[in-house]
Amino acid sequence: MIYLDHAATTPTAPEVQAAMEPYYNRRYGNASTVYEFGKESRQAVEHARETIAKTLGVQPCEIFFTSGGTESDNWALKATMEAYSGFGRHLITTSIEHHAIGNTCHYLKKNGYEVTELPVDRDGRVNLEQLERAIRPDTILLSIMCANNEIGTLQDMEAIGEIARRKGVLFHTDAVQAYGHIPIDVNRWNVHMLSASSHKFYGPKGCGFLYIKRGVRTESLIHGGAQESGKRAGTENVPGIVGMSVAAKRAYAHMEEEHAYETSLRDRMIGHICREIPGAVLVGSHTHRLPGNINICFQGVEASNLVLLLDEAGICVSAGSACNSASPEPSHVLRAVGLSDKQAFSCIRMTLGKDTTETELRYTLNALKHLVKVLRKG
Ligand SMILES: *Cc1c(COP(=O)(O)O)cnc(C)c1O
Repeated sequence: MIYLDHAATTPTAPEVQAAMEPYYNRRYGNASTVYEFGKESRQAVEHARETIAKTLGVQPCEIFFTSGGTESDNWALKATMEAYSGFGRHLITTSIEHHAIGNTCHYLKKNGYEVTELPVDRDGRVNLEQLERAIRPDTILLSIMCANNEIGTLQDMEAIGEIARRKGVLFHTDAVQAYGHIPIDVNRWNVHMLSASSHKFYGPKGCGFLYIKRGVRTESLIHGGAQESGKRAGTENVPGIVGMSVAAKRAYAHMEEEHAYETSLRDRMIGHICREIPGAVLVGSHTHRLPGNINICFQGVEASNLVLLLDEAGICVSAGSACNSASPEPSHVLRAVGLSDKQAFSCIRMTLGKDTTETELRYTLNALKHLVKVLRKG
């Protein structure tokens, strides 16, 4: 099998699995108990918090463990808007966010909040002047993703953060696709909250975190016990948290080389596809792009059919995005960058990982050449 869907999820790294294993059997103590046995789990959780905090250059008390990217996004939006609702009820986001943000915004709108959805250009980037104009006296929060999951577009985080600073609004970013893959500087970017998810950087599924800068007020999303400083109730997912921290450490230790490796594979593959397959066009930005992301529109081809035929050839890719594959609607991201419905249904996303090889991509290129021709004839 050739796995080219790392934006949907990544395999768990071997060192991550090894680190988690003891917490499933020998060290199963509840991290919130007082006896020694539970304290081992507590120490593991706090050590993990320090490890993650260090990767971002923030304080451990600013890292809150969650069940993943979706929960972190829900928390950042719902609970922060609620905490500041006495000051304003307006939030600004973009038209290309993940559904974890988009559908949370729909929910907020139904509950008396106002949401401005900024359009993006053909590269998928936000217009900074438009952003600045959209900020009102009652604007509480900007939520703008760092890197898009479908087309890999990176935003100008520093410039957006500078606008947030100047206007005195909070800035949340969904960095689920970015964390562990590209350098992140929450201080320079003036980011107040950041969402990340373990399974997108070779950690286990069902675990993530939300960075909340000290001083930012937020309500709880999950109510119950006093875990996570009373902010996020529920018995800690100790194996998951340990695994995520080892994955984070691994990702940061190898970031430079993996970034360079994936970028060069990506650019060569894009070059081959666009030169060798007629009517193949890159979607998104050439330069402001995640290292592992390739999204191509094959004109006149039904992407869902192409995905099935590639699957038969042993190659995993997605049409639109993984989360959209059950939906008959065209991807909102592809529509937002100006593609017609027909074009949007002709796009496939191939996302590379640290273990993707040149040989796998050569095989994929040949399969694409053949299958695109077959589908156009049919
Ligand atoms: C995967 C993803 C999420 C959701 O994260 P989960 O941990 O799967 O809930 C949110 N935002 C983006 C950009 C993603 O790629």
